[in-house]
Amino acid sequence: MKKQISWHKVKAGTQSVWGGETDVFPYRATQVPTVNSVAYGYDDLDEWVQVAKGEKEGYIYGRNTNPTLDVLEEKIRILEGAQAATSFSSGMAAVSNTLFAHLKSGDRVVASKDTYGGTSKIFLEFLPQYGIEVKLCDTTDHHQIEKEVAKGCQLLYLETPTNPTLKIQDINKLSEAGKSVGALVAVDNTLATPINQQPLALGADLVIHSATKFLCGHSDALGGLVCGNPEQIKKIFHFREINGATLGANAAYLILRGMKTLALRMERHNSNALELARCLLEHPKIDTVFYPGLDTHPSFDTAAEQMKGFGGVLSFSLSGTEDLIPAFLTKLNFAHAAAHLGSVDTIVGPPKTTSHVENTVEERSYLGIPENLVRCSVGIENIDDIKRDFLQALDQL
Ligand SMILES: *Cc1c(COP(=O)(O)O)cnc(C)c1O
Repeated sequence: MKKQISWHKVKAGTQSVWGGETDVFPYRATQVPTVNSVAYGYDDLDEWVQVAKGEKEGYIYGRNTNPTLDVLEEKIRILEGAQAATSFSSGMAAVSNTLFAHLKSGDRVVASKDTYGGTSKIFLEFLPQYGIEVKLCDTTDHHQIEKEVAKGCQLLYLETPTNPTLKIQDINKLSEAGKSVGALVAVDNTLATPINQQPLALGADLVIHSATKFLCGHSDALGGLVCGNPEQIKKIFHFREINGATLGANAAYLILRGMKTLALRMERHNSNALELARCLLEHPKIDTVFYPGLDTHPSFDTAAEQMKGFGGVLSFSLSGTEDLIPAFLTKLNFAHAAAHLGSVDTIVGPPKTTSHVENTVEERSYLGIPENLVRCSVGIENIDDIKRDFLQALDQL
């Protein structure tokens, strides 16, 4: 018997653990089985046909559906307060499948300049190849975005907070602008996670995640997720099942396991990042700290209104030249220098060699990314140890 649970009455900490996992699994397993079967066998040919036609629930082939993926999709659906969700082999597959499923030649997209590097490549390189016009606006110039949306578009694409300078967009306000011209509003919610921000409740239509980051949380699996209404998700799922960016069952299991502690981890990421940001702000060898939880952040009010916590990612520029960065990074004892974020361990890297490696110096300057910027994804370690580690590394510069 399927349990009927009013998930909207259940808090995020409980949704993280139990979402999608309240029914009895095969063998009475209490944990989600990782189903590594590509195909599913049928003795009864009529039943097989019924499942194939979608008249009966069931599985046929692994590129289309898989029971482990179903649980993951249900968990993110519940956490985002969505009606439907589907999964992908990576965050970029989630982004590209969402765009390609909904757009056709002659359509127009309005997006911001500060989207994730890969997403920005889709806007600048791939969509134009299919006759889709893309207008990129200044990320925090809401007036310009509203003006471009009013000219007509089929899709408005937002990402907030942005990577690596943590710019904030007003989801509620911009969603209203999108809706007024009948455009779909998609939000990349990777940095915030549903624990800190729920774009659908703020008026967006679609929420996109790189599950590789905070949702998985342990840097050991790639994945992507999209939430929305059943009609939109069906369209995106159909594109994915045919084009084949299906998530593997083992990766889905790792992401599911990570998500059980999502609410708990995000609380710690939020408090650690805020404390480190405040500590760095005071330091004479640091010029600027970018973190939406600081009241010095230009969009602090919007962030405080639409986010429950400010997340685990911050960035800062060192006083002096970019030559200091390698010296600083190598002095840290408890931080990986790597192109990643959202893990239990602290990760640091300069955007010029990670998220924005493909951009020129001029383009980075245009995006407001200083050459001496260090991005930091603050882990869940004890904050006193992290602060001491950063301070000793700064002292040695
Ligand atoms: C990492 C990331 C992506 C892409 O996800 P992958 O899982 O690496 O494909 C998309 N958006 C944001 C904001 C990201 O940080």
